[in-house]
Amino acid sequence: MCDDGLVTNESPDCQLPDASQMLLVNIGGSRIRIARRSISTGLLEVVVDERASDRLADLLALVGGVVHSGGDVDLVAVACPGLVSSDGTVAAALHSAVAHTDLKAEIEAVCDAEAFVANDASVQAAGLAAGRSDALFVALGTSVGGAVLRCGTVLDGGLGHSGEIGHLGSVYAEGRCRCGLERCLDLVASGWSIEDDLGSDWWRSAESTWRARIELAGLAVGAVGADLQPLLSNEILIVGGHLASLEVFRQSVQSSFSVPATWGEPKVEFVSDLDQLTWKGLIAVTGRKN
Ligand SMILES: [Zn+2]
Repeated sequence: MCDDGLVTNESPDCQLPDASQMLLVNIGGSRIRIARRSISTGLLEVVVDERASDRLADLLALVGGVVHSGGDVDLVAVACPGLVSSDGTVAAALHSAVAHTDLKAEIEAVCDAEAFVANDASVQAAGLAAGRSDALFVALGTSVGGAVLRCGTVLDGGLGHSGEIGHLGSVYAEGRCRCGLERCLDLVASGWSIEDDLGSDWWRSAESTWRARIELAGLAVGAVGADLQPLLSNEILIVGGHLASLEVFRQSVQSSFSVPATWGEPKVEFVSDLDQLTWKGLIAVTGRKN
């Protein structure tokens, strides 16, 4: 059982009853995770955790296979990267096969069940929302995502794409981003950019080999948070992702998240386990429709 209100059971010996279920699907840039959740008991069982294919057909077949492998699935709730519109279509996703798809329709076609599709960082922010009013959330995964919490609600924006913090400019970044803009935060703080510079298993090597690069990522994230402070006046900057488990990264974020005293003293919080936050968020958005 996890410590944030989720009831989980990852033991293969304990199967969920065949009562009505909700399927939770977390499509990331590098991995796909799928969990079943019993609507009656709240029990959550992770049934898929594997590398994400770069072919949409493979992802859909995987989700459909889980749905049809047992139990009645009433709802499929999907978190995915990219510009996800309010109707469940994905206008763009720079590191995922879900780009340029009507993902809600595709999921419903393979699952024979209603689907709800939302941006992954927005879903995670919904998981954070309980008890919070205003916060800027930065989600560090394969790419950099984000969301703005205002009065406990995740801002969607007119096009539904609010919070794409990864494509704000950073003085710590260099070059042109895949989105077409120059010096995006994604170029310096995303998982793909760090792996490009340090290799895929960089965290297994000595800290001296990666410390400066991770400090750079932290400085960039904190600085973007500070830049947005006069606009948003957030109470809290929340930074999520594996990097948040590293002390050197946390210190770098805090050192550059400096704002004039006239804006108050906003705090920084870190969440290292985005997977649990995604499950919590997908449950929190139950009942919403595209
Ligand atoms: Zn960009």
